[in-house]
Amino acid sequence: MRLLREKRAILFDLGTLNGLPGGLIMKVTDAFVTHTHIDHFIGFDHLLRNMLGSPVPLRIYGPSNIIECVAGKLKGYTWNLISGYPLNIDAYGISEDGIRHASFRAKDRFEPVEDTPQTQKKPFQGTIVKNDYFTVKAVVLEHDIESIGWSIEEDFHINIDKSALTDMEVETGPWLTDFKKKIRGGWPEDSLFTIPAGNRRIEMEFGELKRRIAMITSGQKVSYVMDSSPTPENIRKITGFAAGSDSLYLEAYFLDEDMERARERNHLTAGIAGRIARDAGVKNLHIMHYSPKYRQTAGAISREASEAFGARVHEASPYRQEN
Ligand SMILES: [Zn+2]
Ligand SMILES: [Zn+2]
Repeated sequence: MRLLREKRAILFDLGTLNGLPGGLIMKVTDAFVTHTHIDHFIGFDHLLRNMLGSPVPLRIYGPSNIIECVAGKLKGYTWNLISGYPLNIDAYGISEDGIRHASFRAKDRFEPVEDTPQTQKKPFQGTIVKNDYFTVKAVVLEHDIESIGWSIEEDFHINIDKSALTDMEVETGPWLTDFKKKIRGGWPEDSLFTIPAGNRRIEMEFGELKRRIAMITSGQKVSYVMDSSPTPENIRKITGFAAGSDSLYLEAYFLDEDMERARERNHLTAGIAGRIARDAGVKNLHIMHYSPKYRQTAGAISREASEAFGARVHEASPYRQEN
């Protein structure tokens, strides 16, 4: 996902990344991994190779054992030539009982340093990243092992209507930064806001000023949920977590007729995917990650999901080898 305003990119899962242009991979600052089955983590090496010379830290988020998995990947190579490289990798392992953190520095040949003892883990309360532009949340799901579902919610945008300012005979300036900050902070509508206007000062009700000069557009929400067992608990959790998403990327591994197999293999069905998206009020459902057994009958998966969703679904990179 490209973050246009910040000129950087984030990844959901580290599957096969060979198809991504190198220039885009080098913009990656964060990877949000659902779990470390090989089809979701095999791209780590490709990412690392492209980022080795980068001065920007790389953050990898995933289930609790992601720290051991990153450490294991880094142990698989010989690192005598990188002591002058600036790359730092931070890994964050998420579980219901807290968030572990470890860092790996190129200058120390990627020797892991886990800075939080097991007993002092940061509590996990759902929000993993929050900055001025967006919030990333996680939900812990069951896939025989833990599988993390991810969502990213963009903050709303505030645009100022310049012609309205001209009409009011006031100029742009630092007061607009304060004004926008107060909108984001939910300042009371009836409080008085002071606008500098040359030698004068104009006082106006905050709500009235907002209506006159601010154009507020809501941001988007995108959710990404992969391998999950078809249990009522998972279904309930995913539905709540993905509620109101503009786009939901969801696995549709089996057909409903193979529900028994879906339970054994801890995967969702196309029908379940469609029903989750419908109940969560999702605008666009993107299904992916189908069992290779449907290679000849792929249309059946999107038909089943579309029928359950009540609208046509999108298909995204359907076939990945499952492990
Ligand atoms: Zn899996
Ligand atoms: Zn998988």
